[in-house]
Amino acid sequence: MSAEHLALAEKFQAGYGRPCTGIWAAPGRVNLIGEHTDYNGGFVLPFALPQVSQVAAAAREDRMVHVRSLLNSETAEFSLDGLAPGVVEGWAAYAAGMLWSLEQAGHMLPGFDLLIDSTVPIGAGLSSSAALECSVGLAATELAGVVLPAAELARLAQHAENDFVGMPCGIMDQMASVAAEAEHALLLDTRSMSTEQVPFTLVEDGLALLVIDSLAEHRLVDGEYAARRAQCEAGARMLRVASLRELNDDGVTPEDLPARLSDEVTLRRVRHVLTENARVLAAREALRTGAYAQLGEILTASHASQRDDFEITVPETDTLVETLLSAPPSVEVQPALGARQVGGGFGGCVIALIHADSFDGLLAAVQDNARRHGFTEPTGFLAHPSAGARRLA
Ligand code: ADP
Ligand code: MG
Repeated sequence: MSAEHLALAEKFQAGYGRPCTGIWAAPGRVNLIGEHTDYNGGFVLPFALPQVSQVAAAAREDRMVHVRSLLNSETAEFSLDGLAPGVVEGWAAYAAGMLWSLEQAGHMLPGFDLLIDSTVPIGAGLSSSAALECSVGLAATELAGVVLPAAELARLAQHAENDFVGMPCGIMDQMASVAAEAEHALLLDTRSMSTEQVPFTLVEDGLALLVIDSLAEHRLVDGEYAARRAQCEAGARMLRVASLRELNDDGVTPEDLPARLSDEVTLRRVRHVLTENARVLAAREALRTGAYAQLGEILTASHASQRDDFEITVPETDTLVETLLSAPPSVEVQPALGARQVGGGFGGCVIALIHADSFDGLLAAVQDNARRHGFTEPTGFLAHPSAGARRLA
């Protein structure tokens, strides 16, 4: 057991007065590309972060669950009997919802003592919520002797977040957390749920993937998200397709759209989804062939489409992307090969494909720029494509 795992095991022992049976982990994720494509039956290309939610766990003789988080030092206690949406609220609902979802699917569980720790930044759009659900789900199934395919565990975790927590997220976060592999991105077809591991190794080419939290305050996010979904559904109805993804299957081009959509806003929303799906597939090709300059251009084109057609970016993230792309080249710093806002929109994180040794210089440039614009100074880290959910000890 590593020192870090030992520390969590010792805290479990100290808190519950008995040893844990094991420690399980599930990662947060970054979506390399494919924004607002998931609820349109389209493609996404996330990869798992090295940052994980960890859970030290042991089964109990009764049906009680005790769950404690080192992040807020809070403990929640509830019984699996009578567990239903609304019974457990707040952060513990993510853990309780996962157990509820498993039992709803017919998997009988014992009670558990759980101790949670997490290195995934919380509420930054890196999916600490799915990491928490999936780590608890993996621990619970293994302790209960339930064997589930990764996709089924992801589906049940999504069910927990949708119907127990009450957050209408798609399946991407949970699939990335359970099914990702180190040094790969995960191409997910959200219609068929088929996946493909796409090699994603930047290190040997001297490149890296920078993640910057804009720290921009999310404004109107829920309402705007729902509005975009409704606009996409309206577009699909006008075009007489079941989902906008079919446009890609049918070989429809952006140039075909004006003749078929009279409403200008709908046209732009549809164009974003159509071109974004095409960009995900182009990004897969670029990764396969190591065409990183091209990958960078694809990321930047995604940002422009989110800004101009889908209208989900904010001045903070637009400025971040511009600064990363236009940093004056010097001995120490090369501009990013490409950059884009990631996540649902209206703030959150920006990712950039960069030359690894430009990390410090680029971070300094964006922080300096944010200060001059009066924005909160963003923080950043390099994200290495890492392994999916697993048992650690
Ligand atoms: P994101 O998934 O982007 O981080 P969400 O709002 O979906 O943002 O999920 C964040 C929420 O998940 C937190 O507000 C908290 O309720 C819960 N959460 C995640 N990890 C932990 C943890 N280790 N301890 C307590 N709560 C956590
Ligand atoms: Mg989340």
